[in-house]
Amino acid sequence: MLEPARRCEKNRSIASSGRLDLESAEPLDPASLPQTFGELDLSPEMMRSLKRCGYDRPTPIQAALIPLALDDIDVLGQARTGTGKTAAFGISILEQIAPGDEIPGVQAMILVPTRELAVQVRDEIDKLATGQGVTVTAVYGGKPIRGQIEKLRRGSMIVVGTPGRILDHLSRRTIDLSELWCVVLDEADRMLDIGFRPEIEKILRQCPKEGRQTLLLSATIPPAIERLARRYMREPQLINVSPKEISGDTIEQFYYTVDHEDKFLLLTELLREHNPASAIIFCRTKRRTDAIARKLEKAFPREACAMHGDMAQTARDRVMKDYREKRFRFLVATDVVGRGIDISGISHIVNFDVPSFSDDYVHRVGRTGRMTKDGVTDGVAFTFIGSDEGGELTKIELRINRELKRLEVPESVKDQAVGRRNAVPDLPPPVDPLTKHPPKKYRRRL
Ligand code: ADP
Ligand code: MG
Repeated sequence: MLEPARRCEKNRSIASSGRLDLESAEPLDPASLPQTFGELDLSPEMMRSLKRCGYDRPTPIQAALIPLALDDIDVLGQARTGTGKTAAFGISILEQIAPGDEIPGVQAMILVPTRELAVQVRDEIDKLATGQGVTVTAVYGGKPIRGQIEKLRRGSMIVVGTPGRILDHLSRRTIDLSELWCVVLDEADRMLDIGFRPEIEKILRQCPKEGRQTLLLSATIPPAIERLARRYMREPQLINVSPKEISGDTIEQFYYTVDHEDKFLLLTELLREHNPASAIIFCRTKRRTDAIARKLEKAFPREACAMHGDMAQTARDRVMKDYREKRFRFLVATDVVGRGIDISGISHIVNFDVPSFSDDYVHRVGRTGRMTKDGVTDGVAFTFIGSDEGGELTKIELRINRELKRLEVPESVKDQAVGRRNAVPDLPPPVDPLTKHPPKKYRRRL
């Protein structure tokens, strides 16, 4: 076990990062960062752990964040999904954690937007802490609270949880934050998108102020995050390792302009042509997610599944497990749950619906970034732009500062679409009993 004292003896600094001044925050050049874990001055236990995990060298966010976090500096870390942010704060926390018998309460708390992520983050920290006697507990909704209360009562050094459930424990006084020295806001942008800001602020107000370190991780830093950081962090230092990656330079990004009613034909054609081993299809609403998954399941029996926030936790867990084990190929998901997915080997992303926020585009596309020993490998993303959604395309392109490549809808899809439209007049159109007219959708086709 490590010395409980914070490891502040070294004067570590990162040359080109700025104090929270987003305008001038220059992205860090990965080449200027430590290239090996050895340079980060970690404990022998941690070095062994990293070896066991197969982590040969730090990712840029790890190389940049760990030295600052070990120096007790508050950090706002911006890096795209799949770049190892969990281990970045996980390593720093584990290197500073005191034995449970010295500090009985919770020492570090990690707030995450979804249940899936709570489990993932707990597992990753558990993996890094193997054999070090560190207790990590995940608390999230959708599971009976009793088991979590019991685990907390027995002593948890690190707690990973969703804001709602953490607040629940705080109001029941089943979680003791009096000795907390580190708070992490993971996927902060996503937590704010979901509307967790009031909960996060309530929680932060109940955390000790003195001697507390706050780390905030986010793929994007919109103004709301900046405000949160200014209010609850101590002179946070911004590190940005994302721009090259956030625009998805390693990911091929295409779009199709397609009528809404032909999107499904295009999707099936695309999946047949590319035949990906794993793909995620993003839809805008839970209902559409279900509907598209059902249709896809007909076209590709036993190969498609839906996942969204209305599903019971056990069902979501099962879908994730099956997807991870490659029991089916096509996951149809909403932004909220899709975001928590950390699975390697996803080569194709299809934005069946344009995302409501362009930040979501970045997150969706980031799902293909696969971590390999040599860094992040590439994937391919297709976005379906409805003929009335040109403005949305522009928003995305401005956001990622790059143009998507246009692809033509294949002739085979056009033919099928035309065939289907011509076939419509043969069907008796349903008539609205009030107006005596067929509904608009049919009128357009007739
Ligand atoms: P993020 O939070 O940035 O989206 P994660 O922390 O979930 O990314 O990490 C993505 C994947 O990369 C995980 O499977 C993790 O185990 C792996 N990983 C993290 N750090 C390293 C590293 N230094 N070398 C190799 N793989 C790593
Ligand atoms: Mg993460």
